[in-house]
Amino acid sequence: AVPLVIAVSTALAASNGLLIRNRPAFERARNVQAIIFDKTGTLTEGHFGVTDTLLLSQDIDEDTLHCYAASVEANSEHPIAKAIATTVENTLPVEDFKSITGKGAQGRVEGKEIKVVSPGFLQEQTIAVDDKRVETLKAQGKTVVFVLVDGELKGAIALADIIRPESKQTITALKAMNIKCMMLTGDNQQVAQWVSDQVGLDEYFAEVLPQDKAAKVKEVQSRGILVGMTGDGVNDAPALAQADLGIAIGAGSDVAVETADIVLVRSNPSDVVALLELSKATYHKMI
Ligand code: ADP
Ligand code: MG
Repeated sequence: AVPLVIAVSTALAASNGLLIRNRPAFERARNVQAIIFDKTGTLTEGHFGVTDTLLLSQDIDEDTLHCYAASVEANSEHPIAKAIATTVENTLPVEDFKSITGKGAQGRVEGKEIKVVSPGFLQEQTIAVDDKRVETLKAQGKTVVFVLVDGELKGAIALADIIRPESKQTITALKAMNIKCMMLTGDNQQVAQWVSDQVGLDEYFAEVLPQDKAAKVKEVQSRGILVGMTGDGVNDAPALAQADLGIAIGAGSDVAVETADIVLVRSNPSDVVALLELSKATYHKMI
């Protein structure tokens, strides 16, 4: 038989928007000492909008740049891609589309090879960007991606996402419970710093490739602490599996939800606080 306190806690959890998929993990939740949050779609809404476009070459105009970038991105599911795809009404046909995992997307448009990529990708290819405007945009907390045509840098597109209104209070409440709050993101250092400052994180890891997210969780666990991970993306699933407590945003990808121990049905990060409190209350009473 299910102990009464467990049955009550399940009902309480449900009324707090928590779907418990793994009981032992829910029990462990009361001892978690650090929570790592994914950035995009978890601490932020995950809906980007294009804010600025920079031309970094004389031989291209804004419409052409948008058209090339949007055509390629129309083939990608990434939230950045969705925003860029809306910059034009009509996209051009794309051949050989490929996503460059954690770094961008590419494809052939009008016979030209178009890439829309992260600052990290440019660094790897040792393509220098000497334009102060790029740094200014990053300092404003914007995500900047670059457009290459046949390997040449032609422009930059800046995008902004909105920090969820509940994120800051969540971090404040967790810190008051002596929980270390961290963030893991594939986005650039400056954006990570900006979000970290806005919500008051203890620590963050930026420019982490999707395949390296789980290793970061392991690294934090190796400090000898029990670690929770909250995420929404396909990218986040291995990190959710690695964590002692995997928490998925309900509106996130199916893979994240199916991998997680707990699902935040209301997609509200502040329900993490209720989760830890409920775990403490439930298992305290049993002992
Ligand atoms: P996050 O960890 O914030 O969810 P991702 O790992 O999905 O981010 O992406 C990391 C970075 O890779 C993005 O900030 C962006 O610079 C780049 N990127 C990934 N996919 C695309 C894409 N389709 N178009 C442009 N840039 C992309
Ligand atoms: Mg995400």
